[in-house]
Amino acid sequence: MGLGEWSGRLCWTALLLAVAALDASGGQAASSDTSFAIIDRVPRVLVLYPYDERIAATTAAGEALRSRLLEATNGKIDLFSEFLDLSRFPEGGHVPRMARYLGEKYAARRPDVVVALGKESASFVTANRSMIAPGAKIVAAGFGTATAEKIDLPDDVVGAFATFDILKTAEMARSLQPDARHLYIVGGSSDFDRGWLTTARAALREFSKSYETTYLEDLTIDEFVERASRVPSDSIILALTVFTDRAGRNFIPRDAIRQIAATASAPVYGPYQTYIDYGVVGGNTVTFEALGRTVGDLVIDAIAGKTVSDIEAPQTYLADARQLQRWGLAEKDLPPGTVQMHRERSVWQEHWVVLVAGSGLVLAQATIISVLLLERRRRRDAERSSRLHLLEAVHLNQSATAGALSSSIAHELNQPLSAIRNNAEAASVLLRSESPDHELIQQILLDIQEDDQRAGDIISRMRGLLKKRSEIDWQEFDLNDVTSSAIHIIHGEAERRGITLTSNQLPGELPVRADKVHVQQVILNLATNAMDAMLEAVPAGRTLTFATGLANEKVELRVSDTGDGIPAERLIRIFEPFYTTKQAGTGLGLSIARAIVETYGGTICADNRPEGGAVFRMILPLAHAEERSR
Ligand code: ADP
Repeated sequence: MGLGEWSGRLCWTALLLAVAALDASGGQAASSDTSFAIIDRVPRVLVLYPYDERIAATTAAGEALRSRLLEATNGKIDLFSEFLDLSRFPEGGHVPRMARYLGEKYAARRPDVVVALGKESASFVTANRSMIAPGAKIVAAGFGTATAEKIDLPDDVVGAFATFDILKTAEMARSLQPDARHLYIVGGSSDFDRGWLTTARAALREFSKSYETTYLEDLTIDEFVERASRVPSDSIILALTVFTDRAGRNFIPRDAIRQIAATASAPVYGPYQTYIDYGVVGGNTVTFEALGRTVGDLVIDAIAGKTVSDIEAPQTYLADARQLQRWGLAEKDLPPGTVQMHRERSVWQEHWVVLVAGSGLVLAQATIISVLLLERRRRRDAERSSRLHLLEAVHLNQSATAGALSSSIAHELNQPLSAIRNNAEAASVLLRSESPDHELIQQILLDIQEDDQRAGDIISRMRGLLKKRSEIDWQEFDLNDVTSSAIHIIHGEAERRGITLTSNQLPGELPVRADKVHVQQVILNLATNAMDAMLEAVPAGRTLTFATGLANEKVELRVSDTGDGIPAERLIRIFEPFYTTKQAGTGLGLSIARAIVETYGGTICADNRPEGGAVFRMILPLAHAEERSR
């Protein structure tokens, strides 16, 4: 395997891709002559991974290769993968055993192309090609050109060479830390690690002269961590690989580097893409994706029978923006063309136009929302205060009505009370007689009860008029009922004034939803106005008529009189507050009536009857109108 042979700028994760055009006997062919023909089946490509599936470097390259091949062939390709697991099974017997196994496994499906990712895979397949893939083109990978020579690859191997350049990584560090005075190079104890250290010593010979240089090697992982944690802050730490530490502990290198970088007192750099997420600032590297794609292109050309030859996979400077921030390193000091990973450009930088527009929008929206909220609040406050005002006004109006009607009510109350007194006296006289007429007394007592009931009814009707309320008492009630109740209240007064009351109510219920006392107040207002309007009329013709009706899901109450009517020019004005033509009038009755009716979604209007007199119409929504219409 020649794992210990290292020279130049090579390391294990560097992927060499060589396309070899071999003849069926396994002999060598010129690299310029790579054409071969696959007849009547899809090509078979075997990808060899040197280690296990956890080694991100090779698996990332393998994945990029796989997707490139699938994409280029439209899926018409048979791809096989084998993990040689060479680092975990270094014992001598493993390689020939693996070779025999693969030879047998692929006996019936010989690959047309073998892609060997990593130097070890390349060595393995070139040594065992006749057993595993006789006649196959071999695409091997894992090193730079110098190593390709060292491991003595056959001439027919064409490589997509990947150079992992520790010097370029060091130069990146110098550019970011121009004031650094110390240089530390970290390497493990495995053959591979030691090979890397040797390579680095040669590559950094000149570079390290500007620094106080220390090679951190032959250490346990704890010692690496401890040493790195107390290097001077003006240090550059270059991490190669730690596959194994001095104590013989095995690592996936990036995990070892992560431990070291986590508590290091100076920035750590490394030439691998896989180190990026493990606490390393960055380095010069071939990205595994770029390498995989380069290899894929070579394989495709080879399968297509095109001439293929060695190529270099593109190198890139990579940096982790989070680490730049951690160490206070300036973005402007990065080598030109550096790819920054995890660079969260401030949202502002990224989308300032959208943000400006967005913020404007949000601001505008917020303003509108605030204004609307304020407006709603104002409206609510206004509604609340106007409701309170209305309630207040209604109460005053009720009190005024009660006051105006008080004499007729007192008169009305007087009747049952006198009847009670008279009946009570009659009963007591009867009781004092020698043989009281029990039946008569019984009848008298029944009369007393009835009169008491009448008096109680009058008082309870008045109670609503006098009660002050702070909230609307919503309820469903029959407009016919309230009309009858209002008629009862005013009938004494009407009688006193010589007015005939007539009622023409629609049979059945007329349900409305409102505050019953308020609606009653409207009726009383209309009735008292009507009675006032008939003062001048001849007593014989004084008639006040109440009529209820139903039309278009609305209930209607008409209050008509036989007065002088309302001059046309006043018809609109009479609902205005303080408009009155009466000497002792307030001009508030009708405006309060309209406010009440509108509160419950209704309307009120006035008109003149053709036969003389005025008619007022109060219209209210029928309760459950929606349900009824369904
Ligand atoms: P007030 O009764 O204190 O005057 P209203 O708002 O109740 O206040 O009435 C306003 C005016 O409308 C009355 O002064 C009167 O001129 C007129 N009016 C109201 N009802 C009638 C009616 N039935 N017939 C004629 N005019 C009326």
